[in-house]
Amino acid sequence: MTQIAFIGLGNMGGPMAANLVNAGHAVTGFDLSPQARQVAEQAGLVFASDVQEATANADVIITMLPAGKHVLSVWGDIIPHAKTGSVLIDSSTIDVESARAAHKMAAAAGLLSVDAPVSGGVGGASAGTLTFMCGGADDAFAAASPILQKMGKRIVHCGGAGSGQAAKICNNMILGISMIATAEAFALGEKLGLSHQALFDVASTSSGQSWSLTSYCPVPGPVPASPANHGYKPGFAAALMLKDLKLSQDAAKAAGASTKLGELATALYASFNAQGHADMDFSGIIEMVRAAKG
Ligand code: NAD
Repeated sequence: MTQIAFIGLGNMGGPMAANLVNAGHAVTGFDLSPQARQVAEQAGLVFASDVQEATANADVIITMLPAGKHVLSVWGDIIPHAKTGSVLIDSSTIDVESARAAHKMAAAAGLLSVDAPVSGGVGGASAGTLTFMCGGADDAFAAASPILQKMGKRIVHCGGAGSGQAAKICNNMILGISMIATAEAFALGEKLGLSHQALFDVASTSSGQSWSLTSYCPVPGPVPASPANHGYKPGFAAALMLKDLKLSQDAAKAAGASTKLGELATALYASFNAQGHADMDFSGIIEMVRAAKG
């Protein structure tokens, strides 16, 4: 049986680790937060007293942490004690540079590694329907895939080290920009006397179509499951959208790429967060768009 260590049992890591237990794996977990222990034990994980204890006998080590500095610090603690032949998977959303540095640390110790950030949110983590965007060598991806399949329904190999993070932040930059574009179109339509349903019926079957419109419509009505129908309860919190947009801008700067709309979307989500909406679903930005004077 594959022994798995899971570090970072928060909103995402908790249910992801639970799915590995449900798939019949022995999972040892660790999290700095004492609240995580109870949730982990209820899900059937063994809760270790530190990172080294959690990872000592693991064939697969998964991290699901807030940012690059946490991943580099935890991987720095794990790697010297990791079992020969084990594979490290980081599913956190972090900057491309840190992801590449983490791969280098693993390679220097002769270990396989994959950056495998996810999309699908807490709902996808619980249902085991996440999409994993993976970066790393072919043999590392081959070793990680069977485990990722227990937590997700699409596993995409995007290329070498850091490519998973690159795909994730490029995708989420499109998402942030397209949500603002959709919100602006509805706010303009309202001022022009156009009903939400009429705009939806036209744009969802025309060239204005996008995921932000057809799956996550920022006004209540046309897409009953969208957060707009539930007081903009997340979903995907505005704080996380801002985090991902900032990562896209750091990457653009480092790569010398011009992302003018990405820059503007980052500034708009920064204002939205600063107005006290960090915990609101990111589609709630329509309220700020509507209130802005032209
Ligand atoms: P979270 O804050 O709920 O969980 C992170 C966990 O890491 C916390 O429980 C924290 O105690 C733990 N942690 C921090 N440092 C640690 C350390 N040194 N050792 C052990 N545990 C440590 O965050 P989350 O929502 O689960 O997100 C995790 C990652 O997934 C983030 O990178 C986030 O950007 C990404 N992500 C989140 C979502 C979402 O909808 N929540 C969606 C996609 C991606």
